[in-house]
Amino acid sequence: MRRRIVQPLLCETELRKTDLVAPVFVDESTDAPLPIASMPGQFRHPVDGVAGYCERLWNAGIRAVLLFGVPIAKDGEATEAYATDGVVQRAVRSIKEHLPQMVVVTDVCACEYTDHGHCGIVGETADGPDLLNDPSLELMAQIAVSHAQSGADIVAPSCMLDGMVRAIREALDSAGHQDVLIMSYSSKFASALYGPFRDAADSGFAFGDRTTYQISPGNAREAVMESELDVVEGADILMVKPATLYLDVLAAVTEFGLPVAAYQVSGEYAMIKAAAERGWLDERAVALESLTAIRRAGADLIITYFAEDAARWLDEEQ
Ligand SMILES: [Zn+2]
Repeated sequence: MRRRIVQPLLCETELRKTDLVAPVFVDESTDAPLPIASMPGQFRHPVDGVAGYCERLWNAGIRAVLLFGVPIAKDGEATEAYATDGVVQRAVRSIKEHLPQMVVVTDVCACEYTDHGHCGIVGETADGPDLLNDPSLELMAQIAVSHAQSGADIVAPSCMLDGMVRAIREALDSAGHQDVLIMSYSSKFASALYGPFRDAADSGFAFGDRTTYQISPGNAREAVMESELDVVEGADILMVKPATLYLDVLAAVTEFGLPVAAYQVSGEYAMIKAAAERGWLDERAVALESLTAIRRAGADLIITYFAEDAARWLDEEQ
């Protein structure tokens, strides 16, 4: 009895609803929510339904969303990614109109918008066709500014290009968006856990993969160094992705003193969901344990597909 009374006093790590960021997929081609097969409980939302969904998240206690767009049209230069009437731009305006207090974070990348599936402009290199760094930087800056113009509070470049954060910061500042923050996917591993996301965002590859510009799973020092480069370039929030398999990196990245986000990715979600469906694991217990572990390792924010459910579970534990 006494032990139970004293326990909350000794609690080292508290998981709060305001730590959670819900990823939201917005699909330009649908007029009703489409379930994502490999991510049970997750949907692609139509543009005109996204504000309603965000209101549901808000009512559950979620205060931030991370938007991904699924456009109808793709091309080699990802022109839809920075179009004023693009899927993300329309979604941001709609959410901000209905819920001005909701923090809207936008994923800044091109892979959902290119017909080849890569994260930027592709061209010939000595090793065959691959991502070209500098032309892609210009594209990322354009995308980020268009999101800021639509009302995004935080832009989240995910492409791991060299000089990405600096290019975006300069473009935002000169467009008058000094107050828009940059959350950089600063330590992003070439993980096999992104599979279900590619179903969700429709971002497979026509050729190659992303291993040339994401970090190999064994390289912790390189990952910390990549985050450090983004600190120097002016990132406001760092990110480690995926989360649970990279808690050592997460803990190390907190040393820079900036807020750190961890992305509990689609595969981490799918593993827990699948085992729970079979009755092999207790979904709620494992999900909360994993979110708590991510907090314990030092994450200030957790991007998680469990956000809405976790908010409810945390309420029930009160
Ligand atoms: Zn990408």
